[in-house]
Amino acid sequence: MANGECTWCGTSVESDDGFRLYEPAGDRKATFCRLEHIVPWAIQGPHWEAGELDEPPAIEGETRTCAHCGRELGDVHVLLVRHRGENRIPDDFCSVDHLLEWAKAGGRWQ
Ligand SMILES: [Zn+2]
Ligand SMILES: [Zn+2]
Repeated sequence: MANGECTWCGTSVESDDGFRLYEPAGDRKATFCRLEHIVPWAIQGPHWEAGELDEPPAIEGETRTCAHCGRELGDVHVLLVRHRGENRIPDDFCSVDHLLEWAKAGGRWQ
């Protein structure tokens, strides 16, 4: 089942695949078919789509920290969720810049 299109390349992205990026404070989001497409998107100046968060953010009570710099996060942050089959793998970032650095380095599997 197609769930959206990659914000960068326009490829359709299945609901059980790809990456979803959310900025909860701004009610906006972006979709990516693969991690590599986050890099040019962020470098060109991020282009968001309006949209409410339709994924559960983090586990209640858990402190969010930036996956790149480890800083504790407040209300303004971005959340990247990898969809892999039934799994949802979230990573939080303090900014798109740190998401970019993280994605450039190969993400979680660097
Ligand atoms: Zn893409
Ligand atoms: Zn950071």
